[in-house]
This record gives sequence, C-alpha cells and structure tokens, in this order.
Amino acid sequence: MASLWLPFTQMKNKKERINAVSGKGSYLFLQDGRAVIDLVSSWWVNVHGHGREEIAAAIYQQALKLEHVLFADLQHEGAYRLIEKLSSHLPSSLHHFFFSDDGSTAVEVALKMATQYWKNRKEAKRNKWIVFEGSYHGDSVGCMSLGQRGPFTAAFQDLLFEVFSLPFPATYENDSEVEQKEAKTLELFSALLKKEKGRIAAVFIEPLVQGASGMRMCREKFLIALEAEVRKEGCLLVYDEVMTGFGRTGEWFSLVKSATCPDLLCLAKGLTGGFLPLALTICTQKIYDAFLGEDLALTFYHGHSYTANPLGCAAAIASLELLEKEEAFRKIEAMHRKELQPFFQEPTIEKIRLCGTIAAMDLKVEEKGYGSFVGEKIQKLALERGIYLRPLGNVLYLLPPYSITSKELAFSYEVIRECLKEI
Ligand SMILES: *Cc1c(COP(=O)(O)O)cnc(C)c1O
Repeated sequence: MASLWLPFTQMKNKKERINAVSGKGSYLFLQDGRAVIDLVSSWWVNVHGHGREEIAAAIYQQALKLEHVLFADLQHEGAYRLIEKLSSHLPSSLHHFFFSDDGSTAVEVALKMATQYWKNRKEAKRNKWIVFEGSYHGDSVGCMSLGQRGPFTAAFQDLLFEVFSLPFPATYENDSEVEQKEAKTLELFSALLKKEKGRIAAVFIEPLVQGASGMRMCREKFLIALEAEVRKEGCLLVYDEVMTGFGRTGEWFSLVKSATCPDLLCLAKGLTGGFLPLALTICTQKIYDAFLGEDLALTFYHGHSYTANPLGCAAAIASLELLEKEEAFRKIEAMHRKELQPFFQEPTIEKIRLCGTIAAMDLKVEEKGYGSFVGEKIQKLALERGIYLRPLGNVLYLLPPYSITSKELAFSYEVIRECLKEI
C-alpha cells in the first residue's frame, strides 16, 4: 500500500490522518467538516488568506498561455514584470535578481554567490561564515551548516562546515536587559571581525525575527549597528527574509523597517502569496560585476529546472498587486497588542513579543526546546476548538494571514486562554 512520509514527522507516532479540503480567507476546511482558523499561514507562506481568486485567475490565465520554459536560454515577460514590481519596494542598490524554487535554494544560492564572489575577486582567503545562535536557513546541507545545530541536524554533522555563531539579542516586551544583550553581541562581533580580519566571507541573519527557533525578535537598532560593523570590515551581509518578507513584520521587508541594506537578500515563502513555490536571491552591482568577464570560470554555474516558472511569476505579480492595494499587514500589530494585554497577567506565560503580524510568547515549562510536548498538547486542544496552531516547543505564536479580522483574532486568543487553563 502506498504510504506518505511526512516532513519533520516521526511516522511511528503518526496515527491520525487529517485532510484539508479547502480554504477561504483565514479559514481551512477539514474533511470532517470542521472549519479552523489558520494561525500558521500554512507554514508561513500564505499572505492574503486562502483562496484569493485574483491569484488563482492569474495562474490559470498564464497556464493557458505558457506553463514553463528553459529560463537560461529563453526568458518571459512575467519574470521581467515581477522584478520591476519588486524593485519598487526594495533599496535601489538591490537590483540583480536570481530565481530559484524555495527558501533553501534561495539561501543556498546566496551562500554559493558569496563564496564565488570572493574567489572571482581573488580573495579566496575569505571563506569563513558568521551566523547567529538559533538561526534557521533551510534544510539543504549548506543551509543546515549556517543554521543552529541540534537534534534536527545531528545525523548530518559530518556533512556540515564550521561557522562562527554569535548570540542573537532576542528581546520581548518590558525587557530590561536588551541594551546589554545587544552590546555584548556587538562586542563579540567586533572582536571576531578583528581577529579574523580579511577571512570572513559573509554574515547571515534572519533580520528582526528568527522564525524556526521560536519567533525570537531583535530590534531595528541592532541591525543598524550590525550593518555598520560589517561595512567597516568589508565582508558581505546576507539577509534571509524568507519568512520576514512581504509584510510579515508590519513593513514590506525587515530591511525597509530597519532602514538597512544587505549585499544579498533571500526571498521565498510569501512571494507568490502562498500559491506556488518560487524564490529569489537579490544582489548588488558589485556582486553581479564580479561574475562578469571573458573567463568562463567567473560564471555562476547554478540553476534549477523550474527556475522563474511563469505560473509562479504570475502568482507573485498578482499577489504583489493585492499587497500594494491593501497593505493589510499594517493593521495587525495593533490588533495583536490589544488581545495580548490579558496575557501579561498569566502566570504561566513569559517573554511576550510582537513584530508586525507576528505575536509570540513562551510557556513556562521545565523542559524547553522543540522536544517539549506541551506544544503538541496545546495544538491538539486548540484544533478541537477551531484554531490551527503549531507551537515551536514551548513557544506559542500566532502568524495569521492578513485576512484575519479583529473578531477572528479575538476568538483565537480566547481559545488559547482556554487551552492554557486546561493544561
Ligand atoms: C522556511 C525558511 C527557510 C527555508 O525555506 P523552504 O522554502 O522551506 O526551503 C529558510 N530561511 C528561513 C528564515 C525560513 O523561515
């Protein structure tokens, strides 16, 4: 009998089978007839809510015309239109666009571009990497190397390359130690850059919010200081905005919100509004230029079969048009803030934080991390009551699609409070 093997799932424990059959707005409709609010935005990809007809229609129209083409030889109008549109929301220095398929490939491309950039410039000594504790950049081998090591990467340890890892100055509401945390990281960073002068290739960061390690948030101020240090040393700065892009932080991008600018930017998840896999790695002129020349060895030899898929581009253009028209992401932080107020008095809750459309809090438990089962328990209880959550260990977070109404959000927080009472 054919069997499914699910991602991040111990199949031995997997007894339940829950089919989703349709989605509309903030709701998913399950086969057993239940309607649940999707507070995970289908693993952080959905932007406007489910079932937006404008995007579905754009994909259909494109499919009737041209479904795909080998992008290295032949391009298509949609790819140009998409990058033109995106450009108007990015700093003008980021204007060379390389397409791939998903977040992992976008980061892998950035990693390879940064590597070859220094090779092409005859500065091959720059081959070391700086990342932050708790970072997640995807599941391919290069991406795992850049990410936090732990139970998920343990089996692959022999395949991974070494990186320097600095503490991430994660903060929350009423955090009295944020200044010290930032100062400490910046001090360590500066010392490391001095010690490894001329040997660092790039610094990778999830700007403003580290997603997978538990919606850990830092301040804009920290990114500004980080950028300044990087510029002094001359290494590259890479922003992985795979999760934070397209309004998630309350602005179009974290780089807009912080008024900082990396050398390389990775985008995926929300790019198509959550309809199709598509990704971009965007770079500056100096990086692009380092790959130009008569010598073929300067070429960036990388590509994927579905590069710049026209259906994905059509979806992305339609999604960006909706985003421009509605900018619905701007209203959600205030909605979260209002609903979060009672949680400041919950004795079982700590480290309440929010950034744009994302709200998160830690459940006080003995055993922390992804392995703690309290998250699973809450997920089950919440689903029975009509909301779909996917806690990260003891971290409860709400990352709703921008279709969420204040009523839907109030209901969601109400359910969470009931679940907390029960455990
Ligand atoms: C999800 C994620 C990735 C990986 O993206 P996939 O599309 O799942 O490969 C990379 N970086 C960040 C910050 C992410 O949240």
